[in-house]
Amino acid sequence: MANKILLLSTGGTIASVISDSGLVPKKSGEQLIKLLGKLPFEIEVKDILQLDSSNIQPEEWKFIAEEIFKYRNDYDGIVVSHGTDTMAYTASMLSFMLQGIEIPVVLTGSQVPINVVLSDAPDNLRLAFTAATKCAPGIYLAFDRKIMLGCRTVKVRTTNFNAFESVNVPPVAKITSDGMVFEKKVKAVSGPCKLNTNIDSHVSLVKLFPGFDPNLLFAMAKSGCHGIVIEAYGMGGMNYIRRNMVGAVGKLIRQGIPVIASSQCLYERSDLTKYEVGRLALLEGAISAHDMTSECAITKLMWALGQSMDVHQVAQFFNTNVVGEVTLDSEDEKRE
Ligand code: ASP
Repeated sequence: MANKILLLSTGGTIASVISDSGLVPKKSGEQLIKLLGKLPFEIEVKDILQLDSSNIQPEEWKFIAEEIFKYRNDYDGIVVSHGTDTMAYTASMLSFMLQGIEIPVVLTGSQVPINVVLSDAPDNLRLAFTAATKCAPGIYLAFDRKIMLGCRTVKVRTTNFNAFESVNVPPVAKITSDGMVFEKKVKAVSGPCKLNTNIDSHVSLVKLFPGFDPNLLFAMAKSGCHGIVIEAYGMGGMNYIRRNMVGAVGKLIRQGIPVIASSQCLYERSDLTKYEVGRLALLEGAISAHDMTSECAITKLMWALGQSMDVHQVAQFFNTNVVGEVTLDSEDEKRE
C-alpha cells in the first residue's frame, strides 16, 4: 500500500504569485500538488497558514507544532511547505517542541514560485515526500537534493537553489543517480512524543562587533530580555578592555539572565577554554553554544526558558545533546 503523507502548507515563495505589492503566498497546497503530476504516495493536504515566512513567529511555531502533533498518528510522514527565510528557525524550534516525534516531518520550500517553469519547487516537494517515507522519525529540512537534520540547517544563499546547508554535520542523505544515499545515521528517537510548546521569546541574539557598547545588554535586560545569545568572535572570545563585555556577561548572569556565547563563524565549534578572552567569559558563567547554529541556539534558549529553567539548568541543558543539534566536547575529542 502506498505511503500516506500529509502536506501542511504554510505559504512562502513556493506558494507565491506576483502581485502589485510583490510576491505574496496565495496558492493552496492542492495547487502545489497538482503541478507535480502523479506520485507514488497517497497525499492529503491541509492549508494551515498562508504567510511569507518573515511573518512566521512563535505563535505560528506553536500552531504548526500542534497541527503536526494532532495528525502524526494518521500518517506515515508529514511534509510542511514553508518560506525559506525563517525555515531553519522553524525546523529548530519544532525539533524541541516535538521531541520524540514518531514519524518523519520534513520541511521544504523553494527559491522560485511553483508556477514558474524552471522553479525548484517540484523537485523539492518530490524530495520532501520521498524523505517523509524513507527517513527515521525526526524533524528534517529537504532542499536541493539534500535531506538535512532540521536543527542543523542554515539558510546561506538568497537566490541560488543551493540555499541551505547542514552546518557542522553532513546532510542525512543526498540524492544521486543511485537514489537517496544516506550519509548520517540519525539516532532513533524513543517516543512517545510529548508536545511541549512552552517557550519564552523574550530573548535576544546579539552579533558582537568592535566598539559594541556592553551597556546595551543591560538596556535589553531592563526592557524584559530573559536570555541572550552573543555571537562572539572566533572560538567565542569577547573584549574586556575599555568596553568590558566579559564583565557585563558576568553581571547579567548574576542577575539570573543566561548568556550563551556562540561564534560568528558559521563553521566549526566555539571553545571558550582556548583563549583568555573566552576563558574569562567562561569564569563569569558564559554558556558555550559549542557547534550549534545561531538559529538553533536562540530557539533552544527560548524553549529552555519556557520550561522555567534557571541559569544553572540552562547551562546543563546547553551541555546536553537533545535532538542532534550539538556535538559535545567529548565527541569533539573523538574527532581530533
Ligand atoms: N520571503 C520568502 C519566505 O520566506 C522567501 C522564500 O520562501 O524563499 O516566505
